[in-house]
Amino acid sequence: MGSTGDSGNGKAGWWCRRSSSPSSSSTASSSTPSRTFETRDPRTGDVLAHIAEADKADVDIAVKAAREAFEHGKWPRMSGYERSRVMNKLADLVEQHADELAALDGADAGKLLTLGKIIDMPAAAQMLRYYAGAADKIHGESLRVAGKYQGYTLKEPIGVVGVIIPWNFPTMMFFLKVSPALAAGCTVVVKPAEQTPLSALYYAHLAKLAGVPDGVINVVPGFGPTAGAALSSHMDVDSIAFTGSAEIGRTIMESAARSNLKNVSLELGGKSPMIVFDDADVDMAVSLSTLAVFFNKGEICVAGSRVYVQEGIYDEFVKKAVEAAKNWKVGDPFDAATNMGPQVDKVQFERVLKYIEIGKNEGATLLTGGKPTGDKGYYIEPTIFVDVKEDMTIAQEEIFGPVMSLMKFKTVEEAIEKANCTKYGLAAGIVTKNLNIANMVSRSVRAGTVWVNCYFAFDPDAPFGGFKMSGFGRDQGMVAIDKYLQVKSVITAVPDSPW
Ligand code: NAD
Repeated sequence: MGSTGDSGNGKAGWWCRRSSSPSSSSTASSSTPSRTFETRDPRTGDVLAHIAEADKADVDIAVKAAREAFEHGKWPRMSGYERSRVMNKLADLVEQHADELAALDGADAGKLLTLGKIIDMPAAAQMLRYYAGAADKIHGESLRVAGKYQGYTLKEPIGVVGVIIPWNFPTMMFFLKVSPALAAGCTVVVKPAEQTPLSALYYAHLAKLAGVPDGVINVVPGFGPTAGAALSSHMDVDSIAFTGSAEIGRTIMESAARSNLKNVSLELGGKSPMIVFDDADVDMAVSLSTLAVFFNKGEICVAGSRVYVQEGIYDEFVKKAVEAAKNWKVGDPFDAATNMGPQVDKVQFERVLKYIEIGKNEGATLLTGGKPTGDKGYYIEPTIFVDVKEDMTIAQEEIFGPVMSLMKFKTVEEAIEKANCTKYGLAAGIVTKNLNIANMVSRSVRAGTVWVNCYFAFDPDAPFGGFKMSGFGRDQGMVAIDKYLQVKSVITAVPDSPW
């Protein structure tokens, strides 16, 4: 091992690691900056907290801590069973602190407090436990090597993983990436979204309480072009696990290519179709379709934002969907009666309103919503457009807000063609009682997840990711662990082999 490598300046690499202790190797890397940034409460627009802003120098410290923990620490060397015990302890702590964690995400991201307690936090704990269960089951294969050789594969942790995540599910995004990485024996540097840094910092604290060794989980709150770019272009980071927009996904790939050709996985945006066939129970279909686009104020990558309804039930569906949208209660996410809170920040609020204007200008008909609501904060009414054409901006671009584009179709073939008429391929919904249609359309839609007669049915065991420009690589499922592993072939000569 060399001792002259200097992470981040382009000179260091896996062949010459610093073996001395980094200046910081705590679980939450200590921050050097004097600069801070504000995170705001989307209910009011008021400042919620001032956060130490990590820049390139802080990312270097965090990466050094992660590298040290990976090269010399016990985490990658522990048995899978020991790692699983720590991960289960962390899961317990997430559950024990569910109320304050849900409140942090509620205040930071405008997410519903009640759902945070009963969905996000339990799901995060479940994700940790799922991968804790996998930690002692990671193994290679024996190979059928021709000649007088014996071969097998080893699966080894990939190393230091940079995790860059968005703001819409601050908790789930954190654990979707961190849980399999920990199970694999990796160390991580997490850059949470600048809009929602609070819960990630809390998770670094809980990780320490759970017994995650210093340097294994490092959190660097900061902005994309500074902290995020420093991480994705870092010469001493082995892999980047990214969730966010397609535009930034492209930038991440470029940074990875220009630096050390690090491994990259991208979970990107979507414009998911919800396809409702004539035989569907209309009430059920309306309820699923409105949920699919208004849940989490439409700030969800798999939002069913394009709803295709077969002509036989179209008029009834439209009438009922408008009624349902009007019944979605928009308001304070800390009020248990609220269905939809505010958009995450002013930028997102204005972006959604801009798309609504574009929809009107391009000739779509606004049936309900379309306006801000409330006297402060970033609330928008649940919005439905009809007369939407495939080539309109609101049918093609990801709005990431509570805006449904409703369209009519005649035949199954037409529905498939229209559903696939997008650069994205993240998810799709199908509502029908006809098993043949359900199966045929499931196979024909180019999307990473297809939900039949349900939506948002997530499970840690169900791989999740995109086709086309929705990215590549999968979160969830056993397949996600592979993102955090290297496969090594070991071939040994057996000169006296009897065969
Ligand atoms: P974004 O791409 O703007 O930001 C995502 C993250 O990347 C943030 O942490 C940001 O700071 C960072 N970033 C920004 N510029 C960067 C740069 N130059 N280098 C490195 N990092 C940089 O996305 P967003 O607005 O935070 O989130 C919304 C997007 O995320 C939507 O497109 C949505 O569909 C997508 N998303 C996808 C999934 C999925 O699983 N496929 C899940 C949630 C959100």
